[in-house]
Amino acid sequence: VMPSMAQGELKSSVLNSKSPIASRFRMRQKIAEHRKSLPIASVEKRLIEEVQKNDILIIVGETGSGKTTQLPQFLFSAGFCREGKMVGITQPRRIAAVTIAKRVAEESDVELGQRVGYSIRFDDCTSSYTRLKYMTDGFLLREALLDPLLSRYSVIIVDEAHERTVHTDVLLALLKEVQRARSKHEGVQTKAGDEIGVKRNGGVLRVCQGRKVSPLKLIIMSASLDARIHVEEKPGDILVFLTGQDEIESVERLVKERLEHLPEDKRKLLPLAIFSALPSEQQMQVFAPAPTGFRKVILATNIAETSITIPGIRYVIDPGFVKARTYDPSKGMETLDVVPASKAQSLQRSGRAGREGPGKCFRLYPEREFEKLEDSTKPEIKRCNLSNVILQLKALGIDDIVGFDFIDKPSRGAIVKALTELRLLGALTDDCKLEKPAGEQMSRLPLDPVYSRALILANNQFNCLEEMLITVAMLSVESIFYDPREKREEARTSRNHFASVEGDHLTYLSVYRESNEFLEKRKTESSEAKIDKIMKKWCKDNFVNNRSLKHARDTYRQIREHVEQMGFNVSSCGNDMLEYRRCLAASFFLKAAQRQMDGTYRALESGEIVHIHPTSVLFRSKPECVIFNELMQTSKKYIKNLTRIDHLWLAELAPHHYKTDDEMNDLTQDDCFYSVRDGTPTEANVKGKLFV
Ligand code: ADP
Ligand code: MG
Repeated sequence: VMPSMAQGELKSSVLNSKSPIASRFRMRQKIAEHRKSLPIASVEKRLIEEVQKNDILIIVGETGSGKTTQLPQFLFSAGFCREGKMVGITQPRRIAAVTIAKRVAEESDVELGQRVGYSIRFDDCTSSYTRLKYMTDGFLLREALLDPLLSRYSVIIVDEAHERTVHTDVLLALLKEVQRARSKHEGVQTKAGDEIGVKRNGGVLRVCQGRKVSPLKLIIMSASLDARIHVEEKPGDILVFLTGQDEIESVERLVKERLEHLPEDKRKLLPLAIFSALPSEQQMQVFAPAPTGFRKVILATNIAETSITIPGIRYVIDPGFVKARTYDPSKGMETLDVVPASKAQSLQRSGRAGREGPGKCFRLYPEREFEKLEDSTKPEIKRCNLSNVILQLKALGIDDIVGFDFIDKPSRGAIVKALTELRLLGALTDDCKLEKPAGEQMSRLPLDPVYSRALILANNQFNCLEEMLITVAMLSVESIFYDPREKREEARTSRNHFASVEGDHLTYLSVYRESNEFLEKRKTESSEAKIDKIMKKWCKDNFVNNRSLKHARDTYRQIREHVEQMGFNVSSCGNDMLEYRRCLAASFFLKAAQRQMDGTYRALESGEIVHIHPTSVLFRSKPECVIFNELMQTSKKYIKNLTRIDHLWLAELAPHHYKTDDEMNDLTQDDCFYSVRDGTPTEANVKGKLFV
């Protein structure tokens, strides 16, 4: 530390200069001032004392007060990361984990991935030096599969707990068990493979790496929904809440078009998007100040409600909708719908305006509609398909799902449905134990169990792992095609050569393969930046969404790494699309639909009447039988992402679920089977069996 005199002199001399050192110094100083000005800074000492005193601490604070970025840095300074221990901070959203880790690395003046890092599905930016690790709640849950005692963490902060995502809910219950086990065995020297009993659930947690057991601190943080306001006039930016990538991109185009028609001096508006599939360099752009004289218009999903705070917002535009996944366990159907936001969400959104000055929120719906909104959103665990988390709990050794300490217990029906689905997918045995190796492999892959099953089948049985990896990656993005309303016909024509009469999966496959060939040819001759540009042009010419394709490419690479680590050999079926389609049928048999006399379709499993979505390549040809990946409710129930199959394949490839008519006649077993012809269940036992 320099004596204060010298520091003062240094300061005045460098501040006047324009050298890089000086500008760096100014930036460091600005960051230090910013950190000091945050509300949380004044209670640092008190917070650390509370963490030392309590095993579980709940922190509620206004959004933007500094909880997420500052508390981990306080804990680091207070010595919670000694002896290689880490502080883990979970976020419900991927972008929050990434952007916040970047910010904290910058504040701490370290390179991202060193002391401060992040881990999200398909993107790990940590090293053995990482001490503050930001990650999604889902990621930590998966990490618990490898190290059930989470022994490298001294503190785990579950952030944004008010969001009540299914992962957060399950994580909180699990962390309490881990905490109990670790304090019960404190000081014990363990070795890999030891098993430590958990009081409830009759489960055991397996020691992954031999270590002295130390206690775990648990901090639960959430935003308080009341906003206070400092008064200071400033020109401000605009934040618009939209439902997803599609909507954001079309509004972005619209804003850009409108701007072109405005007089030169009125064009100083800079539209910026933020949503999860956006490449991360672009995500960071929303935080940068707008060029002088410009106003930023940030088009965001509900990520900007509480998870991230963008400085300088003065106006909020809230159309009042969110995209929500809902699941009906009686039908086994998950739908992705646009629904009205809750009151709590609307209030939170309006609170994002004028955090640093007076602000305004424009709600694009009448006041009486506001009164009708639900007070708060139902916790996700009450409205989602549970098969994914239940599989993870099973893999962790927690067998008694019904007795598990959930904050809000999911309905018995939903649990039974998930267990049944996992059995049908071959992840669990008939008595609901983890099936080895398939169930174990499925729990390790960061994918929904159906997609993991697709990869396993593609590898073991159909020799089309390469194709299935592409498929899963392409299905992970919201929309691979770029469909401007005013150029629909042109878009359709120029994409014609990708279209397959067999369906959407094969169409996506050609897009991927063709873009790959195009890229390979140019890779040797060009720089990376140039390739980006060439790819952008290719996408534009072919009406493919460049951002989505990039995201899919990245996802492909990461899942491929996962399966290779599991010992899979990535082989291709080349042009044998029959094998590939049979693999699709064997994987997605739970989502099969049969054409009816009137041209509508009947989903075999649920019996619901559904329609082919107009964006599907099968919209016009209407084949007799299809499998699909998505059910969407708008004016009607639509199925999306389809492939034509032969209905007899269902009985052949999923004989534990479907029977042909002949076979149906001779059924004596008391399991529940569906007819491949029209999906009617056997009369003998329509209800099926209960397994818990
Ligand atoms: P909380 O978790 O309490 O909501 P945060 O710790 O996320 O608050 O944010 C604290 C402050 O840091 C916010 O007021 C915000 O303006 C600022 N901030 C966060 N991320 C960034 C970033 N990437 N760039 C600039 N400022 C940021
Ligand atoms: Mg926060």
